[in-house]
Amino acid sequence: MKKLKLFETESTSSRRSFLRNAGAMAFAAPALSWLSQPAFAENSLQGGKPLGIALVGLGYYSTHQLAPALQKTKFCKLTGAVTGTPAKAAEWEKKFNLPKKNIYDYKTYDRIADNPDIDVVYVVLPNAMHAEYTIRALEAGKHVICEKPMAVSVKECQQMIDAAKKANKQLAIGYRLHSTPQHQEVMRFAREKTFGAIKVVETSDGFRIGDPSQWRLKKSLAGGGSMMDIGIYALNASRYVTGEEPVSVFAQEFKTDPVKFKEVDETILWQLKFPSGAVATSTSTYAAGVERLYATCENGWYEMGPCYGYGPIKFRTSKGEVNLPQLTHQAAQMDDFAQSVMSNKPSIVPGEEGLKDLKVIEAIYKSIETGKVVTIS
Ligand code: NAD
Repeated sequence: MKKLKLFETESTSSRRSFLRNAGAMAFAAPALSWLSQPAFAENSLQGGKPLGIALVGLGYYSTHQLAPALQKTKFCKLTGAVTGTPAKAAEWEKKFNLPKKNIYDYKTYDRIADNPDIDVVYVVLPNAMHAEYTIRALEAGKHVICEKPMAVSVKECQQMIDAAKKANKQLAIGYRLHSTPQHQEVMRFAREKTFGAIKVVETSDGFRIGDPSQWRLKKSLAGGGSMMDIGIYALNASRYVTGEEPVSVFAQEFKTDPVKFKEVDETILWQLKFPSGAVATSTSTYAAGVERLYATCENGWYEMGPCYGYGPIKFRTSKGEVNLPQLTHQAAQMDDFAQSVMSNKPSIVPGEEGLKDLKVIEAIYKSIETGKVVTIS
């Protein structure tokens, strides 16, 4: 694993998600994740003590989504932070009433091992740093949530899974949509074949990326372009909408700005074939806004859009509108993980789920490189 140079910068890149969802956030209701798990209606585990979470990398997502969401969780508490910027350390200490001893920089990171206030390390760094910081946290004896994409290669994903096994700690990926009732409902449609066999799936995710100097456009930090960042939502959705693993892929890449996207992909279109005969066609793009999930089946269809941002999610089927609670995704996701840890049950989004997406992403890049259909084994 390559060690990357660390520094703290305010990236403007992901303000897009904030802007894309700013209006929507006002409607988000508190997490209810636990409806399906009545045993956890109250936090009776750990004597009612919430799990202590330390956020690693205090950029956009930690600051504007995870830290506020943590205030809405039932089973988690923000107890620590890791940052390379002393000013941010001081700000977070004050804002969240964090003891000085619970704030680390990247040099002191491994000392988290000695801190009983921190049960879970949440890695929110540029993609190429996920593997290293996840493995170090596992070696420090902590459970880990790692943001998507899990890592920048299947090899790294496997190393992370192995490290979690060795440490006997849980590793989950930040696939927040798996904790929303809407996406859980399409997973149920896949399991129960509510609309009959699933035939054709269309999923797309995109936004128009700004600042050309951001890490998302640097291969060494991002691992890839829009595909790694947001195409992964469309890909992950096609896997849970069908409930199957794809057997082959054909992909094409398009660039409208070869200078800005010199190192990484701007737009990729790909087609997946699934064992049942279902097919999916998907788009990932940094050129325009798109958020869509559509499935047509033997006896009807369903669609969501917008569906990958922070909500509200719009959902309808051939039978009409579907109105399910609009949750704060990250609060629901972290509470789901806390319950897995507290009850020693597997996470609903374990490392293996992240690896499966990386496997397809590697096949997508190979198909672009070779111009051929690539078999996914
Ligand atoms: P960001 O650029 O806003 O924050 C990244 C943080 O890492 C910053 O605090 C930065 O200072 C720090 N950092 C440390 N070393 C760095 C280096 N060498 N180069 C650049 N930054 C460095 O990014 P973000 O939008 O917060 O994204 C962080 C991770 O979270 C990414 O993996 C991204 O895919 C993921 N993310 C997930 C969601 C979601 O909805 N699940 C949304 C946004 C971002």
